[in-house]
Amino acid sequence: MVIALLLYVVGQKFILKPLAITLLLFSATLSYFTQEIGVIFDIDMVRNTVETIKDNNKQEATELLSYPLVKHIVFYGVLPSLFVLWVNVSYKKIFKELVTRIAYIIGFGAVVVALIMMNFKYTTYFSRENRDLRVYLTPLYAFDSIKGYVKSEQRKHKASLKLIGQDAKQNKPSAQRSIGIMIVGETSRAENYSLNGYSRETNPKLKKESVIYYKNTSSCGTSTAYSVPCMFSLLNRDDYSPVKASLQSNSLDILEKAGVEVIWIDNNSSCKGVCERTGEINIRKNPDPESPFYSDGEEFDEVLVGKMDEVLSKMNSQQDVLVVLHVLGSHGPKYYKRYPDEFSVFEPSCKKSSPQECTDQEIVNTYDNTILYTDHVVSQLIKYLKEQQSENDTFLIYASDHGESLGENGVYLHGLPYFLAPKAQTHVPMLSWFSEKYIKNQKIDMSAMKNIEEEKTSHDNLSHTLLSVFNVETTEYKKEYDLLVR
Ligand SMILES: [Zn+2]
Repeated sequence: MVIALLLYVVGQKFILKPLAITLLLFSATLSYFTQEIGVIFDIDMVRNTVETIKDNNKQEATELLSYPLVKHIVFYGVLPSLFVLWVNVSYKKIFKELVTRIAYIIGFGAVVVALIMMNFKYTTYFSRENRDLRVYLTPLYAFDSIKGYVKSEQRKHKASLKLIGQDAKQNKPSAQRSIGIMIVGETSRAENYSLNGYSRETNPKLKKESVIYYKNTSSCGTSTAYSVPCMFSLLNRDDYSPVKASLQSNSLDILEKAGVEVIWIDNNSSCKGVCERTGEINIRKNPDPESPFYSDGEEFDEVLVGKMDEVLSKMNSQQDVLVVLHVLGSHGPKYYKRYPDEFSVFEPSCKKSSPQECTDQEIVNTYDNTILYTDHVVSQLIKYLKEQQSENDTFLIYASDHGESLGENGVYLHGLPYFLAPKAQTHVPMLSWFSEKYIKNQKIDMSAMKNIEEEKTSHDNLSHTLLSVFNVETTEYKKEYDLLVR
């Protein structure tokens, strides 16, 4: 009804057809993602899309292009548009046209009101009980989300950064330098981790390391642009919004304030504003074709292992260091592009451009190969940190930003609003590893740490734990979120 009213009011000569065609093509594109992949265009999906454009992330955009998408747009967008072009619309003289349109609006409105009144009890009950359905109103819900996103961005531009944690200071129990790696995982879901009880062996290397694996971890959001800033924010998930977080210092800023050197290395997209004040090396934007990990315009995550030496050699050898590695992990929909051939262990895999073209088993196989490769990359980083042990106390933390749907109930990928999202999109793997010297110097109680594995944990734990592993004291730190037990 809203669309019809819009066309009656602004659909004048030279405007009606272009407007109708734009609406048809836009709706056809949206409906493909909603019907076929299970994606909903809420504010966070708009934010994700804008971030992808801002990051100039052509790889991510082209991965979404596929034959089924083109087919859907032709059928639901292009063909109806050709019909619109073909129809001959006769416009009357201005006054007559106006009267006719007003008559149509009144008549149309009367029919709609009559229908609602006749079924009043049912329609009010239905709309109250099924508020979630509004997210499927295409394209109106997407328009509303775009409006909401623009408003929140305007608020952000008007406000200035609130500095928090200015009292931060390190108070270390030993003089030994600490080197830590924080891995921001991508699209890993916990249920496909054998460390989380998955029947397939997807963590053959990590299971041999003495890692603490937090079995019941929930993510902050269901998309990268929402979750990544949340993982480094001092705001709890309940109080968090990406705009609110961007307007105050995050845990990386506080670590730097306390004297820890921080560097962000990105092989995914960008740090989503988190490293704005700390510095970033972006591999995804500048892949090296000479690299042994180079493949089809990007580099496999193992490239990050070699980067460790490169960045550490440029740093002050006295200061503690945190290297944040943002991996490409299990980023879809082309999971098969995330790992070298030797990690294609679970076969047959899916090499189509859109996951719904493959069987469920092929999708799961391909996805499991990405988890197997991430297991390898994280193990390689632990190996690297072990080699630094004689001079440094070392540790590693890994947490994925959100999970993934692999076609269960027709839902693929991620990004559903949290209240609609299946557990597959919000139950994420999180783990930590500490070198023997770190455990000794920091007097870590490993058996108590093991007990936390079964507890409920979330992204809310990360920022406070990062402050704690570097012995940073500040009024912003909350012990109840700290995963370290001393
Ligand atoms: Zn992500």
